[in-house]
Amino acid sequence: MPLSPKEQNLFQQKIDALQEDLAKVGVVFRADWSCCQSCGHAEMKAELKDEEYEFDTTYIFYHQQATEDLKEGADELYLAHHIIEGDLEAVVEVLEEYGSDWKGEKDKTIRIPFLADDEMSNRIRGLIASK
Ligand SMILES: [Zn+2]
Repeated sequence: MPLSPKEQNLFQQKIDALQEDLAKVGVVFRADWSCCQSCGHAEMKAELKDEEYEFDTTYIFYHQQATEDLKEGADELYLAHHIIEGDLEAVVEVLEEYGSDWKGEKDKTIRIPFLADDEMSNRIRGLIASK
């Protein structure tokens, strides 16, 4: 089922909060980034180089196909990632708050349950309800 406007709002707030939390631990996050996973990685590496980040920068993104899937009612968001060793623990910790069961496996896509009954969704639902 496609998302209702309320669900879209909830989703957007969850993504914004995730981006903020990842930025706090020095991670670059891009939403709705590029057409697919392989283009996303290529474009990210090009952008990070342009912006004169260190070459090996931790980044996380989801691509436009994932956005489309969500609009069609997918209940999970898959995040592509490139995470350097020193950032791993902090990233896993942040993602756990968003309901992810990812434990830092390099070859595994990060899965975020969307609109799930997790702490973050409930907090955001509370915020929306109190408006
Ligand atoms: Zn592509």
